[in-house]
Amino acid sequence: MTEFSPIALGFLGSLAAGSLTAFGAVPVLFGRLPSQGTRDLSLGFAAGVMLAASFFSLIIPALDAAELQFDNEAAPAAIVCLAILLGMGAVALMNEKLPHEHFSVGREGPEAASLRRVWLFIIAITIHNFPEGLAVGVGFGSGGLKDGLPLAIGIGLQNAPEGLAVAVSLLGEGYSKRRAWGIAALTGLVEPIGGLLGAGIITFSQPLLPWGLAFAAGAMLYVISHEIIPETHRRGHQDKATLGLSIGFVLMLFLDVWLG
Ligand SMILES: [Zn+2]
Repeated sequence: MTEFSPIALGFLGSLAAGSLTAFGAVPVLFGRLPSQGTRDLSLGFAAGVMLAASFFSLIIPALDAAELQFDNEAAPAAIVCLAILLGMGAVALMNEKLPHEHFSVGREGPEAASLRRVWLFIIAITIHNFPEGLAVGVGFGSGGLKDGLPLAIGIGLQNAPEGLAVAVSLLGEGYSKRRAWGIAALTGLVEPIGGLLGAGIITFSQPLLPWGLAFAAGAMLYVISHEIIPETHRRGHQDKATLGLSIGFVLMLFLDVWLG
């Protein structure tokens, strides 16, 4: 694999991971959907993978990278904490700026509100796909295949249920099968853009690395807590959602240690 530059690897790896979003949404084209409980379980799985990826693939490497830049212990921790909060704040601000009907609060309006809720979910998924791509790109850019591969696999795995969730919710709003699948596929294509940027930044500017990694972790943590977990609990399948989250979390932890 030496013939590929880190930037090309970062792009291809994040493109492959992002494409699994479209793959996961394929069942809507055939109208054979898994039950709501199974979908909540698989979206819970996605939340678990993302949670583990935030810590093991973003926050810990961010601390390691920051420790190379400073002699004392407080500065790396402070930088990573600040960057996490900035990442969370950035997504919160984006949510704030959008005309917003919240998931759990806004039930009053009929169809318009429900359509808006679905689109907010889609926007949140799209937004968090960017830091996911960034993470994959940074992985390949800093550590080559060894660091990039577990991330690409883990991120790819959790994209499939996300793609399905997006397509199914659009189907529920009356979108055609093809359009629902197409929009779901588009949300995943943000990932190679993030991947290219991530691999590029780390290749050209090492001091930015801890900031970028921790910012991406913060953005993902916000989406997990604010959109994905509430979505899996909305229809009374908390047990399945939590089971999915546990499986996703330990699987990503295992992948990261085993392949990383
Ligand atoms: Zn995700």
